[in-house]
Amino acid sequence: MRSPPSPVLPAAVDVAIIGAGIIGVSTAYALARAGVRVAVLEKGTVACEQSSRNWGWVRTLGRDFPEVPLALRANQLWGQIQDQIDVGFRRSGILYLQESDADAAGHQAWIDGARAYGIDARLLDSREARGLLPQTARGWTGALYSATDGVAEPQLAAPAIATLARAAGAQILEGCAVRGVELSAGRVSAVLTEHGRIAASSVLVAAGAWSRLFCGNLGADFPQLKVRGSVLRTSPVEAGPAAAVNGKNFTCRRRADGGYTVSQFGASMADVVPDSFRLMRHFLRSWLANRDFVRLRFGKRFFEELGIPRHFPADRASPFERYRVLDPPPSERGIEQAWSRLVHAFPVFRHARILQSWAGYIDVTPDAMPVMDAVPRLPGLYLASGFSGHGFGIGPAAGEAMAQLIQGQTPAIDLHPFRYGRYRP
Ligand SMILES: Cc1cc2nc3c(=O)[nH]c(=O)nc-3n(C[C@H](O)[C@H](O)[C@H](O)COP(=O)(O)OP(=O)(O)OC[C@H]3O[C@@H](n4cnc5c(N)ncnc54)[C@H](O)[C@@H]3O)c2cc1C
Repeated sequence: MRSPPSPVLPAAVDVAIIGAGIIGVSTAYALARAGVRVAVLEKGTVACEQSSRNWGWVRTLGRDFPEVPLALRANQLWGQIQDQIDVGFRRSGILYLQESDADAAGHQAWIDGARAYGIDARLLDSREARGLLPQTARGWTGALYSATDGVAEPQLAAPAIATLARAAGAQILEGCAVRGVELSAGRVSAVLTEHGRIAASSVLVAAGAWSRLFCGNLGADFPQLKVRGSVLRTSPVEAGPAAAVNGKNFTCRRRADGGYTVSQFGASMADVVPDSFRLMRHFLRSWLANRDFVRLRFGKRFFEELGIPRHFPADRASPFERYRVLDPPPSERGIEQAWSRLVHAFPVFRHARILQSWAGYIDVTPDAMPVMDAVPRLPGLYLASGFSGHGFGIGPAAGEAMAQLIQGQTPAIDLHPFRYGRYRP
């Protein structure tokens, strides 16, 4: 990657945010609108990692119940953001297709649990599902459906929210890795970047897949691993489905350019790395429960991560500069499987071309929910990370809630399920 020009640093801000993904820029936008002096420091470019590489689904469907209030609030915020700047947000509807009674029972159980939150979702029978998806060649037994869930364009969204945040007064500095924080009298007093120091009494770590390394260097343990998701996009398909579709072993959603973003639901690859062993006690149960969906792979990534120091000083180049942008190769097998299953279920894609494929490292926690909290024993330090493959859709609401927490307000959404201390050391 070409090095961006050195940014001009502010001497002091109220809040410094590490990472300009969807979480960092959404928090900055909410803080700047409240009149808080905020700077976002990004080692690469805005949304260079997960936030530009995801599928773009903005969903309540299938979420863990504690995340549902965030998803509902985010749906409103996406609409408000779209009214100001194009993020490609539209309420396209989302369907989770069923092929057995067991699928239907699972979806019914989710609706029963989520109903208390006021969700807009229902079960469709087979005829209703076909009515929404006349293109399908397969006989689905039904679907879980939300007409108001939707999609946004990942390549547009975080940069556009960054533009709104800048207009509200935030500073967003690219090519500016944060190496560490300075502590004075036991509390955070500054961030130390590759270009110098910025005084700040509050620091938010929104560093995506790097949050564990960053926090660990400060003595704060955050159990987080990475899995690799592979994605492709097609040439335009005029007669394709309007709603986003989870077909169990493939997914597709229409893009603003008329093509489709295609992948496999729940199919990821986990590179075995030294942290896989260090964090085994946290992740073993989750890995056993998901072993049909996550393939383990031992390869050169193990040795790359072995070479990354876990403790490093702030006065010399850090791992965040050495790895400006995580850009893993896509899994060819994963791409081929997603494509052939999609074409089998929706022959309308037969003549489409695959224009691009890519991958992204998804940061995951043991319970697949984020941490959104102050970090104990390091006053002034906050963490919003570990969104486990579904942080894009709730990003604007997560940012709003973190802005409230950092300002000392009680967040409008209960963040207790996302507390830092829920993992046993
Ligand atoms: C293939 C794939 C599909 C997905 N599909 C969906 C989906 O459909 N819907 C959904 O809701 N979610 C989805 N997700 C998950 C979603 O993309 C993430 O949860 C979300 O983008 C996380 O945002 P973030 O801001 O926490 O992290 P990121 O977007 O990863 O941003 C973190 C940023 O911090 C920067 N950074 C790290 N360390 C430092 C440092 N020391 N100094 C300066 N900068 C630093 C990084 O360069 C990066 O830009 C998907 C993810 C992937 C990879």
